[in-house]
Amino acid sequence: MDKKEHLLNQIIEKNQDSFSEKELEQIRLAYDFAVKSHDGQMRKDGDEFVCHPLSVANILSDMELDAQSVVASMLHDCVEDTAATLNVIKEKFGKEIAGLVDGVTKLGRIPYSNKEEQQMENLRKMFLAMAKDIRVIFIKLADRLHNLRTIAALPEEKQREKALETMEVYAPLAHRLGIYKIKLELEDLSLKYLDPVGYNDITESLKAKSTESNLLLDAVKTKIRDRLVEIGIESRIDTRVKHIYSIYMKMYSQNKIIDEVYDLYAVRVIVETVIDCYNVMGIIHDLFKPIPGRFKDYISTPKPNMYQSLHTTVIGREGMPFEVQIRTWDMHYTAEYGIAAHWKYKTKTSGKNSMDERLAWVRQLLENQQETDSQEFFKSLKVDMLSDEVFVFTPKGDVVNLPAGATIIDFAYSIHSAVGNRMVGAKVDGRIVQLDYEVKNGEIIEILTTSSTKGPSRDWLNIAKTNEAKSKIRQWFKKERYEENVVEGQKALETELKKHGISPAQIGDNEIAEQILKRLHFKTMPDLYSAIGYGGLSAQRAANRIKEEVSRNGKLSKEALRILEKMDDLPKTKQMPSSGVIIEGVDNVLIKFARCCSPLPGDDIIGFVTRGYGVSIHKTDCVNVVNAMKKQEDSERWIPVLWGDEILGKFSGSLCITSEDRVGLLADVATVLANMKVTIRSINANDIKDGTAVLNVVLETTDRENMEAIMKKLMTIRGVSEVRRCSM
Ligand code: MN
Repeated sequence: MDKKEHLLNQIIEKNQDSFSEKELEQIRLAYDFAVKSHDGQMRKDGDEFVCHPLSVANILSDMELDAQSVVASMLHDCVEDTAATLNVIKEKFGKEIAGLVDGVTKLGRIPYSNKEEQQMENLRKMFLAMAKDIRVIFIKLADRLHNLRTIAALPEEKQREKALETMEVYAPLAHRLGIYKIKLELEDLSLKYLDPVGYNDITESLKAKSTESNLLLDAVKTKIRDRLVEIGIESRIDTRVKHIYSIYMKMYSQNKIIDEVYDLYAVRVIVETVIDCYNVMGIIHDLFKPIPGRFKDYISTPKPNMYQSLHTTVIGREGMPFEVQIRTWDMHYTAEYGIAAHWKYKTKTSGKNSMDERLAWVRQLLENQQETDSQEFFKSLKVDMLSDEVFVFTPKGDVVNLPAGATIIDFAYSIHSAVGNRMVGAKVDGRIVQLDYEVKNGEIIEILTTSSTKGPSRDWLNIAKTNEAKSKIRQWFKKERYEENVVEGQKALETELKKHGISPAQIGDNEIAEQILKRLHFKTMPDLYSAIGYGGLSAQRAANRIKEEVSRNGKLSKEALRILEKMDDLPKTKQMPSSGVIIEGVDNVLIKFARCCSPLPGDDIIGFVTRGYGVSIHKTDCVNVVNAMKKQEDSERWIPVLWGDEILGKFSGSLCITSEDRVGLLADVATVLANMKVTIRSINANDIKDGTAVLNVVLETTDRENMEAIMKKLMTIRGVSEVRRCSM
């Protein structure tokens, strides 16, 4: 029997009891298919190539994965390395297995490059995001493990490259999925090629100690076993040397020599029940001297990757410290194979809904992870499950991370604004697509550019999802269309300013202009106009700032000042402090709120210096204001005013509610308002024809926000079609 047949027999043997006859038959089919596909191919170590996928299948069988994973692992290099197409696999082995093979093949195409940490993290995330089925990751890990085991035949440079990639991508993946058995071996194998000297140093030291330590460990094992047998606790006890990489890390990161590493040796006790775990812990502490502060209860508080065990470090007779891990068999399988262990378990016990249950379990795991801040990684696994991020490639193989729903435009601008601005089209995996195409995980995206382009179109602002793309597009309009933007922007701002009673002449004042520019971070007024023109700054926002600046400077029109000064001998009002309105530079002015629009704190407001009755405050969008401003002779009487920080008291507001006329409407409105603890001052119903009613409600409110909340609530009443503020 040659090696490949031997490997097949092992696979069959390992799965004999758990796979159905049909599944075992599929394994034999997969064997024939793989042998034929890889016929004539050799590995560097001299084996027939097919021995590799068969060994991977053996690793997965040890993990007790399901038949589909095992079959897929046997076929995992067929698509990549041979002419056999995915379609043939789909035909012969079904959609699911073909999907797994495809997933593994795609992961294999993720280019690895030793880049900065951010790229590595993206790469790890991408692995998960791409492997829609987590079994793809299991296969990929087993694949990598076997490749590393047989890496000795490769040239040294290749060895180091693979080892580094394993250390940075695969081992962290295995760790975070809780698959310790694979993680530990991957780390030890990688270390061997990354730091052969350090690795040998440790293995040699351990070898030198081995006779002595074996004797000691055997004695410890016997001592524990005897006591457990005595009190009738069934157990399995293993002793081992901790794995090389963890010793290495302790020595090098904490600058210790090997004899200073506490837990060089470990004893593992596996028992039937959780209660037994705690009992054994008591016995261990009774038999050996515990080192204070080394007891960890991962049973009551599992690690983020679901690992559970009791840990303690004790000192044996000869003064040799060793770690003891105590766990149940369930915990043991989870510790060895993490998510994978659970996979198998779920498959066995559940029927049709097994996939849902598995996913539910993974989700639960993710939620557990969420509560701990330690595992950045699981956030990314979560990202995959909730899919709020996508990972795509540049043609050069860099991973680009975008929010879900991102389009070609977002991708282009994430590369460089010059790429976005010159874009004329794009290819996804070699196919031409529209610019609003939403990119998907793993796609390779190529942006087609030209040097003679007219730049982005304004529609792109609606297609782009990321702020980065949007702001770069705006940036372009800002630069390329400066003159046009200045004209547009100035027009928009002046219209807006007029609403606040500020004339363009007022901001022409050098001192104020300087303040405004400083406040809004622009160098010149044309820059400010241009920003409004291309949409970088809204005219409304600019006008509000300018209004504040104008009032702060007390630059009221001369006419307004003269009138206000005259009002000094008007009766000083007691309500002044609580009116909440500030006219900068002028104190003690009688303020009254116009009944036509009844402004509320939070509204944009403007003041009108009346002839002898103080200043009346209107909303800037009040119909009366708009009309009155047209009168040239009064234009000097409009002055900018502001709401102060402290506003006390209640304001009257008036609402018009349009509704379908029905019995009980009035009562419903009253109930809603009562529930919100709103005081009603008056409520009138006017019948309008066509079965429509308009209610006029005057009520007490504190500010605009409060009023809006009230309006929103009123909108929920059955039949109500409109609620708006209106004049009293
Ligand atoms: Mn492979």
